[in-house]
Amino acid sequence: IPGTSRLPRWLKTDIPMGGNVTKIRKTLRELKLHTVCEEARCPNMSECWGGGKHGTATATIMIMGDTCTRGCRFCSVKTSKAPAALDAAEPENVATALAAWGLDYVVLTSVDRDDLPDFGSAHFASTVRNIRERAPQMMIECLTPDFLGRPELIEPVALSGLDVYAHNIETVEALQRSVRDHRANYKQSMFVLAHVKKTKPTLLTKSSIMLGVGETDAEVLQTMKDLRAVGVDIVTLGQYMRPTKRHMKVHEYVTPEKFKHWEQVGNDLGFLYTASGPLVRSSYKAGEFFISEILR
Ligand code: SF4
Ligand code: SF4
Repeated sequence: IPGTSRLPRWLKTDIPMGGNVTKIRKTLRELKLHTVCEEARCPNMSECWGGGKHGTATATIMIMGDTCTRGCRFCSVKTSKAPAALDAAEPENVATALAAWGLDYVVLTSVDRDDLPDFGSAHFASTVRNIRERAPQMMIECLTPDFLGRPELIEPVALSGLDVYAHNIETVEALQRSVRDHRANYKQSMFVLAHVKKTKPTLLTKSSIMLGVGETDAEVLQTMKDLRAVGVDIVTLGQYMRPTKRHMKVHEYVTPEKFKHWEQVGNDLGFLYTASGPLVRSSYKAGEFFISEILR
């Protein structure tokens, strides 16, 4: 990876490609499933797919295509005003493939589809229902777009039968315009999270903050407090890594000690779970956390 030599030592990791991961990759090709884990070359693959000590294998699947109608400055997903039409068979096919994989915990995420009248809300909800039918034991987390903060589009997903509803705030309020697409914003994303809780108070909600994009400590603290104030249960904090030179620069490599500090802050603020570390991603070992911290 170009520029890797300038990375701090705690970010230099090999992407493990051994035994279990290689075997699962082969199965995935046969099932025609696309994981964010592979596409983002995520360094946590062997831990997530391997399942850790609780044997809870987690993977993140991208639905609704590979092309987004938005263009956030940190994201490497392709962008277009008019992506390909949705595949109507996808909810069923994804569910069949996931049931065959025998995964324990799936994170379903998607590109933003501002081109569709319902922004993909019904498709998202239908995918969850199909998985519930074919793999009743599987734990399901959805990491959704903001649906432009429209309650009637948030509700069908919140009521579809999932276990965890995640929506990322991404960064502090002052940096929203320079980091996220202009259609996204802090208040709208906070509203999404608040509305999910209001719609189904027993549903767990979750959000992520990227660090190293120019935020101050006071702003991070405020964002965490705001997330708690709208009832968010789980928060994750990780280091922003620049996907290519065309993306926004890394402002700072936050130290592991600082990430530990934020974990403590999260615990003190009363989150059910706080995952904070340089390599932590929104879905990092999500199943493992769910079993060990939330169902204990
Ligand atoms: Fe990437 Fe999501 Fe932004 Fe689209 S909306 S560019 S997928 S972060
Ligand atoms: Fe996949 Fe997320 Fe785990 Fe990375 S952190 S391997 S993207 S489930």
